[in-house]
Amino acid sequence: MDFDWTDDHRDLRRSAVEFASRVLADGVTERDRAGSFPRALWDACAEFGLQGMLAPREWGGGGHDLLSAVAILEGIGYGARDNGLVFSVAAHAASCEGPLAAFGTEEQKAEWLPRLADGSVIGATGMTEPDSGSNALALRTTAEPSGDQWILTGSKTFVTNAPVAELFVIYARTDGAGFAGVTCFLLPRDTEGLTVGPPMEKMGLRTSPMAQIHLDECRLPGSAVVGSVSSGAMIFNQTMDVERLLVMAPALGVMERLLERCVTHARERTAGSVPIGKHQAISHRIADMELSLEASRLLLYRAACTRMRRGTAVRDSALAKLAVSEAYVEACRSAIQIFGGYGYMVDYELERELRDALATPLYVGTSEVQRNLIAGLRGLG
Ligand SMILES: Cc1cc2nc3c(=O)[nH]c(=O)nc-3n(C[C@H](O)[C@H](O)[C@H](O)COP(=O)(O)OP(=O)(O)OC[C@H]3O[C@@H](n4cnc5c(N)ncnc54)[C@H](O)[C@@H]3O)c2cc1C
Repeated sequence: MDFDWTDDHRDLRRSAVEFASRVLADGVTERDRAGSFPRALWDACAEFGLQGMLAPREWGGGGHDLLSAVAILEGIGYGARDNGLVFSVAAHAASCEGPLAAFGTEEQKAEWLPRLADGSVIGATGMTEPDSGSNALALRTTAEPSGDQWILTGSKTFVTNAPVAELFVIYARTDGAGFAGVTCFLLPRDTEGLTVGPPMEKMGLRTSPMAQIHLDECRLPGSAVVGSVSSGAMIFNQTMDVERLLVMAPALGVMERLLERCVTHARERTAGSVPIGKHQAISHRIADMELSLEASRLLLYRAACTRMRRGTAVRDSALAKLAVSEAYVEACRSAIQIFGGYGYMVDYELERELRDALATPLYVGTSEVQRNLIAGLRGLG
């Protein structure tokens, strides 16, 4: 058991921090207020190699392993401050590029992977529907065979990147109920019958665009199936393992940044004649922030190692997702408390951090769903 990063990992993280603080950090408050997706910064991330970090080199990607991607995203989270943009990139890489790279045919990879990896095509995924979220397998979108084609009909909601995406990974029911009846498809944006609804306005992550999409008898060729017919639920679960880690890795960087800001503030801000950090109520809160950050790191790094070693990490990735998302929300609340009234002011950028963080116990499976998964592996629930 080795708890130290390699020099390569440290270099990756360092260069991610440098890139993100130099290129991504300015103007976040204005973008957040306007709810605007910064396409130029998306392109800058792609130039840096972020969208393609996990894609194989032969398809134009960086060919990094999962632990290296975690190190990079942690560094991006520390430097960027634009949590919405970082979430959009992580969702694109994990939920669209990921299943394509792992389960796609050579033809599918040749057509899409290089453009997803270089960011010229933005990817999205649609599993959640208006009537099925946590119970994802209750999805109602259908894919009916018609000759050598499939006809997809249904609606997907909360689709991250939908307003700007050109490729959708869609899960649809091809057969009966339950796990075995779901198939995964590639749906290009220009498919007849596909409409993207107006952007959905969110509380946080406002620089990450989102919309509902509607599929009205969308005709897809047989070659649009990812993996094989009926393997969609397996692909979704495998994808979730990795996505939980990729979307939470930036939170480690944010938590570290918040911790450092709180330490500085606790030293500099005086109440009466002493710095507020002299009060145990404040110093212990900061010690707890550090404890939660380090526990989150250990769980998330371990989950990445488990996944790399075993090819699956349901328990470890659920534990990491649950712990990091809840620690992240708590860290934001602590930071606001330590900054007092200033923490509540928009200029201090802590209220935005909290609004962004509050999405994390909801997406990629809610905290309750992670607990169900963990307890389920003990035969409970
Ligand atoms: C910012 C953001 C981005 C997202 N991006 C995407 C995306 O790109 N693609 C996509 O497909 N989806 C996306 N989602 C949707 C997300 O995956 C769902 O919101 C999530 O799965 C919860 O589903 P729901 O909203 O329908 O809530 P519900 O399933 O209705 O749950 C409501 C509440 O009930 C609880 N609950 C439900 N069932 C159980 C149970 N069995 N046991 C205990 N508690 C339970 C939940 O935990 C929650 O607290 C996104 C969501 C957000 C907030």
